[in-house]
Amino acid sequence: MMKPLAPGDRLVIASHNKGKVVEFRALLAPMQIALVSSGELGLPEPEETGDTFIANARIKAEATAKAAGLPALADDSGIEIDALGGAPGVYSARWAGERRDFGAAMRRVEAELAAKSALHSPPRANFVCALCLATPEGEVEIFEGKVFGHLSFPPRGDNGFGYDPIFVADGHSLTFGEMRPEEKHRISHRARAFEAFAKAMLARI
Ligand code: IMP
Repeated sequence: MMKPLAPGDRLVIASHNKGKVVEFRALLAPMQIALVSSGELGLPEPEETGDTFIANARIKAEATAKAAGLPALADDSGIEIDALGGAPGVYSARWAGERRDFGAAMRRVEAELAAKSALHSPPRANFVCALCLATPEGEVEIFEGKVFGHLSFPPRGDNGFGYDPIFVADGHSLTFGEMRPEEKHRISHRARAFEAFAKAMLARI
């Protein structure tokens, strides 16, 4: 088991996505862990060639830890739809195309479910977030968070991003797109993965 992070430690976040960097920084600030992003260090973003969320998070964390000579944290996330055999899964971002058009991605989901006659009862789906912490010495720790629910069409709500407007978490009636961000962040896959990471790696703080 990797030794927990301690106040004063530096950690690289393997992402060029400003929104994600802000989220990670807010989470780690109370632990006095200094976070630098791979973008700020001018490190390239490795290609996500894995076929699982864990594999992709690991590719990003290991490459970044090695290049920076510091521990690195990376995440990979997406949505899995039961009736589509887990698709789009690791291809969640890619279904939105070059232009990142999630309206089109959600229409594709609806069309593929319709083609399988899977829209009669609410289709089951879950979001997944895999987090990987890697050290330059080659140690690796993985944490995963999921949130389960169903899909609802047409899309509702302008909050959040990606597939949020069609996802309704179990025990709720609003889509993630309609929820207040604080509420989504309490129950999301990313929050759950962060919790597991914090519990294991920030235990002594
Ligand atoms: P990543 O940046 O490679 O992790 O890609 C994640 C993709 O999965 C995003 O582009 C979204 O399409 C989808 N995704 C991940 N998390 C969420 C979420 O919380 N809400 C909606 N879509 C999400």
